[in-house]
Amino acid sequence: MTSTRPFIPAGTPLPGLYIVATPIGNLGDITLRAIAVLQGATLVACEDTRVTGKLLKHLGIKARLQRLDDHASPEVRARIIDAARQAPVALVSDAGTPLISDPGYRLVREARAAGVTVTSIPGPCAAVSALAMAGLPSDRFLFAGFLPVKDKARTETLEALAPVAATLVFYEAAPRLERSLRAIAELWPTREVAVARELTKLHEECRTGTAASLEEHYAAHPPKGEIVLLIGPPGADEAPVQDADALLREALAEGGPGKAAGIVAKATGIDRAKLYARALELKGA
Ligand code: SAM
Repeated sequence: MTSTRPFIPAGTPLPGLYIVATPIGNLGDITLRAIAVLQGATLVACEDTRVTGKLLKHLGIKARLQRLDDHASPEVRARIIDAARQAPVALVSDAGTPLISDPGYRLVREARAAGVTVTSIPGPCAAVSALAMAGLPSDRFLFAGFLPVKDKARTETLEALAPVAATLVFYEAAPRLERSLRAIAELWPTREVAVARELTKLHEECRTGTAASLEEHYAAHPPKGEIVLLIGPPGADEAPVQDADALLREALAEGGPGKAAGIVAKATGIDRAKLYARALELKGA
């Protein structure tokens, strides 16, 4: 392991904006660097001052807190950026990695544009922990935040992701899990699905199966707590070839059916021969 930065920064960290990941349930997951930065920060920008106040109290750290949520005004962000120019400023969310379905995107973008040093202090992230433990393909994944609440929008979102040759990762709320599993079962009855729940906490579990089998389980055992929902990629013989029509049409605009089938097979994992046959159909249509 090579590093130009010390294992634990000695003394006060340098001025800049530090994106600090915090535990997603288990306080033991705070990192040494996170503690050092929070101790040295002159200001801690946070989603909810009560939540972060509790974490800092547990760590024995006194810090000036500034609320920064999705509704923060440009003036609030400008003040935080100004402070980060002079001294170390930390950004935390209620739990996990800031910006990952959490506030901070605008602040980071504007801080970078203003020439302020932005550093990430990595740590817990529910999406990554779930992917690491679920046993679904982890070489390619697509994190898509929360699924829409309404049935139609949820199905449309899933349909749009149908040809993606990667494990799909979503955040989900316990009361909505069953409906989401039903929608997945209707679209992709054979794909492997995982529900990772209460990660790092006492009742942590990770259950895998088809969406229908998981729906049945959670109908009998209503889930509680926080959830990451994962859907395995389409297998070569699972994805209906029509799922890739839009991509095929795009590729056909650039080249012949053979080339188009090759490009789309690589992107989606769908069998090339099937795509070639479909490309011929689309060309003749
Ligand atoms: N930024 C956070 C991160 O890095 O994981 C995620 C914030 S997002 C607002 C909160 C969602 O993350 C929860 O609704 C749940 O879907 C997921 N989540 C957070 N903690 C979790 C945990 N301990 N176990 C399972 N899912 C969790």
